[in-house]
Amino acid sequence: MANGAVPNGSAKAADPEATNHFSANNLAPLDASKVTVTLTKSPKPIPPVEELVFGQQMTDHMLVATFDPAHGWSAPEIKPYGPLSLDPASSCFQYCPNVFEGMKAYLGPDGEPRLFRPELNMARMQRSAARVALPPFSPSALLALIKRMVLLERRWIPRARGCALYIRPTIIGTRPALGVSASDHALLYIILSPMGPYFRTGPKPISLLGVCDAVRAWPGGTGGYKLGLNYAPGFEPQKRAAQKGYMQVLWLFKEGEGRGLEGLKVTEAGAMNFFVVVKRADGDLDVITPPLDGTILPGLTRDSCLALVRAHTPSTRALPALPPATRVHAHERTLTVADLVRWYAEGRLLEAFGVGTAVVVVPVGRIGYEVEVAGKEEKEVRDVLLPEYEGGYGPVARALWERVVEIQEGRAEWERWSVSCEEEA
Ligand SMILES: *Cc1c(COP(=O)(O)O)cnc(C)c1O
Repeated sequence: MANGAVPNGSAKAADPEATNHFSANNLAPLDASKVTVTLTKSPKPIPPVEELVFGQQMTDHMLVATFDPAHGWSAPEIKPYGPLSLDPASSCFQYCPNVFEGMKAYLGPDGEPRLFRPELNMARMQRSAARVALPPFSPSALLALIKRMVLLERRWIPRARGCALYIRPTIIGTRPALGVSASDHALLYIILSPMGPYFRTGPKPISLLGVCDAVRAWPGGTGGYKLGLNYAPGFEPQKRAAQKGYMQVLWLFKEGEGRGLEGLKVTEAGAMNFFVVVKRADGDLDVITPPLDGTILPGLTRDSCLALVRAHTPSTRALPALPPATRVHAHERTLTVADLVRWYAEGRLLEAFGVGTAVVVVPVGRIGYEVEVAGKEEKEVRDVLLPEYEGGYGPVARALWERVVEIQEGRAEWERWSVSCEEEA
């Protein structure tokens, strides 16, 4: 193609007046009722739960739909899992207009596959796609397709408690040209991967290293969207943290110069939202997570934990596993490294934990932070240590983890958060 700005000879898309190249109303919407199904002739054996490694074993089938600027969305196709074939000039390889979601399907005691608050994943994916100018899609159509895939692959959902079928809906830009502009072609696919228990040998608290020289997200940036491009720049800092003996990075954002630890805002832990539990003077517990200021991914698990903490009182017992008289107060407020260090010194920092779909809730045992030492070139790493609890989880993390999992698996009802895959979307 001589001119990279003219996608596939489509006059409409090349019109400089057309601010939104998806505005034509003759484009086909994503339509779940048009799905075609080609079943595999060689179904794979289901690996035993002990052999499952997160995201490594895939189910038998995948779902694929394509978007092109002349026709809109193709009829979705369910077919045997296998490689994709793409033009090497596709924008996904060059400029990364790629978005994804992370969801799980759970088996209830009735043997029925369920999803957890899936409409929130669909809405978030819609926002992510819009952020990188990918074509819009109907969230209810995508949800119907996901349910269809889960029902088709239901034999892959592990039965054991705490296990699930991980679902990865993805949209990538496939505009086959090198011009630096929005992708007017896209490929949507859904793949599924069975997940064993997150902790093979029982929950173990993780360690985090706060890094200052690499930033995951910043005001006006893309940290609040689930875009592929947010993750690769975290791999090298993650390696460095591992070399220093920490399992994940505690992502910080430095606000203002010369403010020391006061200026270091805590944002997220690895690819999880971050919470702390702080004891107040009156003995109540503050459960604190940073606010959604654009640098934080708006996690469903974060939202669910906040909602449950807000709903809990000693009489409502939204968190039945909390000791009876415990009062908890949810806060979305700025959290700095200085806060962590101060609460630790005062003996008030009771718990820290990460939350996200894959782990649900993971306790944090140690948080390293770097300080400059007079006369030394290298920064020194100091640790904030969390109390050790039997079984790994502190009381709030444990109560949240147990409650969220029991709602996800349909063993408890809460606000219609758990949705059967057999229900119409
Ligand atoms: C996906 C993700 C989370 C967790 O979101 P959930 O909706 O709870 O799974 C948190 N932080 C980052 C950076 C993420 O990508």
